[in-house]
Amino acid sequence: MILIDGKKAAAELREELKKEVLQLKSKYNTVPGLTVILIGELAPSKIYVKNKEKSAIEVGLKSEVIRYPETVDEKTVLNKIKELNNDASVSGILVQLPLPKHINKQKVIETILPSKDVDGFHPMNVGNLSSGYESSVPCTPLGCYLLIKKIEPNLNGKKAVVVGRSNLNGKPMTQLLLKENCTVTITHSKTKDLKGECLKGDIIIAAVGIPELVKGDWVKKDTIVIDVGINKTEKGIVGDVAFEEVSKVAKAITPVPGGVGPMTIACLLKNTIECFKRIQK
Ligand code: NAD
Repeated sequence: MILIDGKKAAAELREELKKEVLQLKSKYNTVPGLTVILIGELAPSKIYVKNKEKSAIEVGLKSEVIRYPETVDEKTVLNKIKELNNDASVSGILVQLPLPKHINKQKVIETILPSKDVDGFHPMNVGNLSSGYESSVPCTPLGCYLLIKKIEPNLNGKKAVVVGRSNLNGKPMTQLLLKENCTVTITHSKTKDLKGECLKGDIIIAAVGIPELVKGDWVKKDTIVIDVGINKTEKGIVGDVAFEEVSKVAKAITPVPGGVGPMTIACLLKNTIECFKRIQK
């Protein structure tokens, strides 16, 4: 069984990105810039943003965090996004979710210029991804995809089962696997026989938010299992996959923590660089 080391993979990716930033700097005399907007005081959001800032600086990107209190009005945020859209030193804009209730998430997402949408949430990027065109790809599924490709470079004809159909994870994951010629089944809370569907998968990606949902007898031998879930339980943080049981049958599996999580931020940096390159083009 291969334990997929997301920390190591993310560190390797950051090293590659660091080199790329240096090359871009010598070519364009400037570096890609990531601006994050953080609204409110939610502890997990503050931690994520701090980690994003630290990682961006580590690979040599220009990094900026704009903080607003929970009470900020929607217009102020939208105007700031428009200002950043027109700022040539900003390559990528990310508004940390979740937002306070009085701010319309969809409006915020659609105000970000698609070419600077490092999260890949803008409908233009969602459409481009599903049409097979160049686009920003949401960071977590992109990280999962890169981990899968490390284990199995040729995914042609593989049967992939995606558990969860969120816009953040399941749906873009499905598009990335389709692009690789996988036969993809997307499952969700109303799926009739989830165990039966999972048993058909050569690859399973679980992005649900239910602790240890995917059991050992749901997985056939030699399956690659990617666990996106992050669930706080009495025994600590666990994923959506029953790791102990599944690791006995899987060909490869990501641990939680230390699997998909570290790749998410590394992919945000990758997306910022990709946005910069597309803008230069
Ligand atoms: P979400 O709540 O938006 O979507 C969950 C999906 O799971 C839905 O499509 C729903 O239909 C499906 N679902 C719910 N119950 C189910 C069941 N019993 N059987 C099958 N499907 C079921 O969640 P999300 O934002 O996609 O996040 C999923 C998990 O991934 C969470 O634990 C979240 O914390 C984690 N997450 C991790 C990272 C990371 O970087 N590792 C990033 C984002 C989210």
